[in-house]
Amino acid sequence: MTSAHSKLYSNDVSLVVVVVDTNPFFWAAAALPFADFFANLVHFVNSLLLLNHLNRVVVIAAGVSSCAYIFDSSDASPAGGVGVTATFDKASRKVEEFIAQDARATAGNGSVASANAASLLSGALSLALCWCLDIQRIFRSGTRHPQPRILCLQGSPDGPEQYVAVMNSIFSAQRSMVPIDSCIVGTQDSAFLQQASYITGGVYLKPQELNGLFQYLAAVFATDLHSRTFLRLPKTLGVDFRASCFCHKKTIDMGYVCSVCLSIFCKNQKKCSTCGSEFSRVMPDLNSMPDQSK
Ligand SMILES: [Zn+2]
Ligand SMILES: [Zn+2]
Repeated sequence: MTSAHSKLYSNDVSLVVVVVDTNPFFWAAAALPFADFFANLVHFVNSLLLLNHLNRVVVIAAGVSSCAYIFDSSDASPAGGVGVTATFDKASRKVEEFIAQDARATAGNGSVASANAASLLSGALSLALCWCLDIQRIFRSGTRHPQPRILCLQGSPDGPEQYVAVMNSIFSAQRSMVPIDSCIVGTQDSAFLQQASYITGGVYLKPQELNGLFQYLAAVFATDLHSRTFLRLPKTLGVDFRASCFCHKKTIDMGYVCSVCLSIFCKNQKKCSTCGSEFSRVMPDLNSMPDQSK
């Protein structure tokens, strides 16, 4: 009986890490002001916490030059005298502080100054995974084994220079069975997050109407992993599987792959810059491959 009860708990408990894009370059030009977006997020997090008292939510801000934890629902225990409202007030102050701090870091970093600057998704995903693996370890010792998941709310474009780090995080999430959900609040699709959700079995969604953001979040992303098996959630229509070359961090359609370490290059190399393998034969030119059918 105990096992059935604990199984029920483990089925509908949600342990969620929300990665929030706070990139000021994106939000300055976005259709939805950041304050409105943040209000939607607070309602969403609150709804998640109300669904089940065992649910836990952590919010991580991803800026241009840095990322940080800004909210942890375990800090808001009614017994401890700190209510959820107070914790959200603290979170909104924390996110403002974070944005200011990140802006100073970006100003000091001469390499990022363009309006097309990407957010530090790779760093935020790593932080999110650390929390997920940590919570998996905590629950492993008990009778309940709920699976944590990650939700990325991204608006700014992908940073091709983060390709390797992002893919490593995606594969690590896949191995740990942590689904990565993606909700795109910008105008462009994200190839990184399409791949992340596809590979980890998460949901990828680019809402048509951002004014109804809360409805999308509540109807699609609030559902726990067990309930998802009974629902018809949005399916990704196409995934952009293009990779970035390791030499110039450019997105490429076709490239050369090291047969030893699988590093990707846009041009023919004599030696792999990642693992040092020397290629004895010149690799064939991809555009003049011999026709195998003859
Ligand atoms: Zn290259
Ligand atoms: Zn190699």
